Amino acid sequence: MREPCADLHTHSTCSDGTQTPEEVVAAADFSGVAWLSLTDHDTVDGIQRAREAIRARDLPVELITGAELSCHSDADGEVHVLAYGFDETDPTVLAHMQDFREQRHVRLARMLELLRDLGCPLETEDVLAFCRGESVSRVHVASALARHGYVANPAEAFRLYLANGAPAYVPRKKYSPETMIPMIHQWGGVAILAHPHYFDASEADDAGVEARLERYVELGIDGFEAWHPHVDKRLKRTVRRLARRHGLVLSGGSDSHGSWGNRPRVGGCTVGYVYVYELLDRIASSRGRMTGRETTAPGGCPV
Ligand SMILES: [Zn+2]
Ligand SMILES: [Zn+2]
Repeated sequence: MREPCADLHTHSTCSDGTQTPEEVVAAADFSGVAWLSLTDHDTVDGIQRAREAIRARDLPVELITGAELSCHSDADGEVHVLAYGFDETDPTVLAHMQDFREQRHVRLARMLELLRDLGCPLETEDVLAFCRGESVSRVHVASALARHGYVANPAEAFRLYLANGAPAYVPRKKYSPETMIPMIHQWGGVAILAHPHYFDASEADDAGVEARLERYVELGIDGFEAWHPHVDKRLKRTVRRLARRHGLVLSGGSDSHGSWGNRPRVGGCTVGYVYVYELLDRIASSRGRMTGRETTAPGGCPV
């Protein structure tokens, strides 16, 4: 019998995935994972729907609250931090997600102004038509530019207008890892550095990767995503070594976006139950620190 495992990194139509939260849940059940985390980009909108889908069909899948939060580091560029185990109905969590959403819309309005001046007028609705969820981004603007015939394809839209430094580029309000990690702890959550292969690609040797990851340990990261389609064996060794050295936890998942891109489907990359228990313990401690007492990890252990 297959040992219980988890997919702790999935996306739905609430950000940039192609499956609804209900479909992600059904796929998780079909693949046989015991724990699932829906980690949409900068939104918690799908969590309640996923929870309800599990409850309605009485599925043997335990949902761990999650989100993949974008931040920017001067040294490392765009960095994604996975937050787990927080209460998604907490007003401070909702305020952050709301701020993030508003920032995206402010940015979109400014981009559309610049595009109008450049002779490519688009309405907000033209862009939102490509947006299945809440997280409107440059990808959706690029698709709208192509649909309206201003460019041959979305890649050309990026090259001519939307890429960093291009005439309609508008920088995003950026959260730093220094702000984001303590904020997740204040929510009673656990902060995991997502897909650390980004760090691997720009470093010549393991020592260089380790030094860059050590910086996140100093910032209070709780662990690393060791099982991810793009994390190779060598990098996995490095993050496991770091986790042992600093008493951190490890997580993993498919990073499934449904049929979009060439990522595996839900359940296509998983993390073993021993690591899930460690993560749940860590969540219980974080919740305990928040409330001043030890609590049971949300979700509990289904096996
Ligand atoms: Zn990511
Ligand atoms: Zn992701």
